[in-house]
Amino acid sequence: MNGWPHSKLSRALLAGLVGLAAGAGLAFLEPLRLPWGLALSPAALPLVLYVALCFAAPFFPVWSFFLPIVTRGPRERPAVALTFDDGPDPRVTPALLDLLARYGARAAFFVVGRNAEAHPEVMARIRAAGHEVGNHSLSHDPILMLRSARLLQSEIAACQAILQRQGVTALAFRPPVGITNPRLPPVLERLGLGCVCFSCRPLDFGNRRVAGLAAKVLGSVAPGDVVLLHDVMPGTGVTVEDWLSEIEKILVGLQARGLKPVALSQLIGRPLMVASGAVDGAGAPVARPAAEGA
Ligand SMILES: [Zn+2]
Repeated sequence: MNGWPHSKLSRALLAGLVGLAAGAGLAFLEPLRLPWGLALSPAALPLVLYVALCFAAPFFPVWSFFLPIVTRGPRERPAVALTFDDGPDPRVTPALLDLLARYGARAAFFVVGRNAEAHPEVMARIRAAGHEVGNHSLSHDPILMLRSARLLQSEIAACQAILQRQGVTALAFRPPVGITNPRLPPVLERLGLGCVCFSCRPLDFGNRRVAGLAAKVLGSVAPGDVVLLHDVMPGTGVTVEDWLSEIEKILVGLQARGLKPVALSQLIGRPLMVASGAVDGAGAPVARPAAEGA
């Protein structure tokens, strides 16, 4: 759907089937002797491993355990994608757009629905500058994946509706804090969204840790990486200028390494959004012929 992978036979299901088969195969072995006179059937070991996998998998999107998750592009091309999450923020995002324009860099903005709704003029600037927009849920609840399937659906659908009112149909969802769960795949499939995370994460904790941000990114970035950054107000003691200076160091460092920041859709070879119409300066759709935005 929309060029994004959706799979009925997830790795979680495959791992469960393999675990069942392994358990059946081990059922005939003698029980393992444990301390304190306890015994454990070897058939239980695959089950224990599977449960451990299920608890760990939400935090490791690169495993694509519950659903296919795109985390990076091909390593062969000298390109990366910069992604900015949690905005837009009128105190931060416009200055970032100016900086990106100076370096000719394109980026993807995984926006929070409530912020997009509150700042349509910033959304319009993001789009007018040729950047891409993705869905990052309505309110960025950090424990969204522990909520009910109904709330998960409404959080993603509400953000989608806000973006559509602003003339954008997002085709990609990034889960808050990058955590997934088994309830996410059917929700994304219903809404026509693919799941995209990241492969280079400098752990800026939503701009609460800006010191050394550029060094962390440049110390680990590789061709094909999707870099996770945030366009929100920096934490206490750090100015927007300090943060912008770190982003500029990243842009300069990437240039020095011959790594071009390209559109995320270009890097991963999948469409990120469709623009259903142009928007005016206030972010409201205006009557013009529909155009592809990715
Ligand atoms: Zn986020």
